Amino acid sequence: SMERWVGKVAVITGASSGIGATIAEQLVEKGLKVAGLARRKDRLDELANKLAGKKGKFYPVVTDVSKEEDILRAFAWTKENLGPVHILINNAGIAGRGNVHDGDTKLWTSIFDLNVLGLCIATREAIKDMKANSVDGHIIHINSIAGHRVVLGGSVYPASKFAVTALAETLRLELNSLKSKIKITSISPGLIDTEIIPQQFKTENLYKEGKIIGPEEIADGVIYALSTPLMYRSKNSP
Ligand code: NDP
Repeated sequence: SMERWVGKVAVITGASSGIGATIAEQLVEKGLKVAGLARRKDRLDELANKLAGKKGKFYPVVTDVSKEEDILRAFAWTKENLGPVHILINNAGIAGRGNVHDGDTKLWTSIFDLNVLGLCIATREAIKDMKANSVDGHIIHINSIAGHRVVLGGSVYPASKFAVTALAETLRLELNSLKSKIKITSISPGLIDTEIIPQQFKTENLYKEGKIIGPEEIADGVIYALSTPLMYRSKNSP
């Protein structure tokens, strides 16, 4: 059930469009306070207006998640104004087309700074806050099918998402070794109808073949993951 999250704080990176905005919408409807991090202020404000009057509330926090100082500022603002973080959705991500054998350093840097390092920094800050407040929180990475299988022409995007797969597994081991009850979930969508699609694919055929679903399906998956029971340590475990 989502009951235990009502009134609690969720941070969502990349909340200004697509999957992140849809997750934000559903969490606000369920009664959470959602800090939405992204660069486009107009889009964040638009979402805040759309969600005004719902059970929870959406708070725009203009943030470049590829910059450490921005992420630190966003977490400081959230803690001060909304309270301890209970949920982090690492959703912000960019893709790119090109090759590894002759590709562009600038594109590679921007993909890794956001998809990998931004995710690491946000995760570290969230866990720090959860531990300081004894919160058994939940961190969800929006990974990708490209985190398990590479595609030709996807530049370093699949490598960045393979890193997300590894990071989810590493974090789980770390938290387990600390006997922490913080949960890590990694969700790997296939093709979702959002603004990222033209960055990554030649779209015509995909739309024609109907190989695409809406961001609501992923938001439903997030709600399901958050609804699963808290972890506990069995009395029977050694
Ligand atoms: P969108 O392009 O619609 O959303 C991307 C979000 O990331 C936007 O809110 C954007 O906000 C934000 N973002 C981009 N760069 C930055 C930055 N530097 N700092 C802060 N926020 C940033 O695409 P999706 O909703 O599809 O993408 C969301 C996630 O889902 C990504 O991680 C993507 O890899 C993953 N995914 C998507 C799939 C798909 O088919 N659509 C398939 C598998 C995974 P702003 O520009 O305002 O900063």
